[in-house]
Amino acid sequence: MTGSYSARRALIAAWSGLLLAAASSAPVSAQPKASVSLTRLDCGTFKAPRDVSGFSDSFAYSNPPKTLPFTASCYLIRHGDRFMLWDAGFAAPSDLVALPKTVVQQLAEVGVTPDKIAFVGISHYHADHTGQLPNFPDATLLIGAGDWDVVRATPPKYANADPRPFAHWISGGGKVETVAVDKDVFGDGSVVILNLPGHTPGHHGLLVRLAQTGPVLLSGDVVHFHENYETNGVPTFNTDRADSLASIDRFKDIAAHLKARVIIQHDPRDIAKLPAFPKAAQ
Ligand SMILES: [Zn+2]
Repeated sequence: MTGSYSARRALIAAWSGLLLAAASSAPVSAQPKASVSLTRLDCGTFKAPRDVSGFSDSFAYSNPPKTLPFTASCYLIRHGDRFMLWDAGFAAPSDLVALPKTVVQQLAEVGVTPDKIAFVGISHYHADHTGQLPNFPDATLLIGAGDWDVVRATPPKYANADPRPFAHWISGGGKVETVAVDKDVFGDGSVVILNLPGHTPGHHGLLVRLAQTGPVLLSGDVVHFHENYETNGVPTFNTDRADSLASIDRFKDIAAHLKARVIIQHDPRDIAKLPAFPKAAQ
């Protein structure tokens, strides 16, 4: 009796776990209750077009060499009275990068102080996505579990994984939630971090469902520009080619099923797909 009772308990627990897992990772049918808006922030732009030959491991841009303009974007998501930042851009202007205003300065223009940012979601650990993270020490860091493992390793597993922007969270000074698969940030399906590994081990993108604009997909670096999106191009420096292709496939599939507006975060040709700052897409 005890045995079968335990077994039934175990079965129920397993099913509950599955249902919970399904609920936390299922963005598709939920309707947002809180009002949600999305604001594009400038997080730095290369002053000159960039040699993109390294962005194809099949030499698509090497013969002849190709250059493209390259920007870094971050996003402010308002969910009711709560705020989330998606990506944290370049740290500062440099010889190569123009950054007229920091994220904190841009947020001030829309009346948001850094302590109001409840979550900072990082698509991945590259420096052009994490530079201004230290300005948000009160925020819960949301980061792919695979990326969190990389930046905490000593030395980091990959040379382009700089742990310094994460120091506050690595030391235990800030709250961290690692994202192993997808994560429904506010629990109503309106803002969902999407598992898209391959560019880095824990790379993610973001789905934001807006009442008027409809679904918007932020790419992270699942691709960097239109040419790679259209041809399933994989950069030479991605950590896993097969995962990269699977993630591009998933991203396109989500875009098709939701009829989502796709924003490739580094491609200046996508800037006009959202209202110009300080206006927000609603
Ligand atoms: Zn990257």
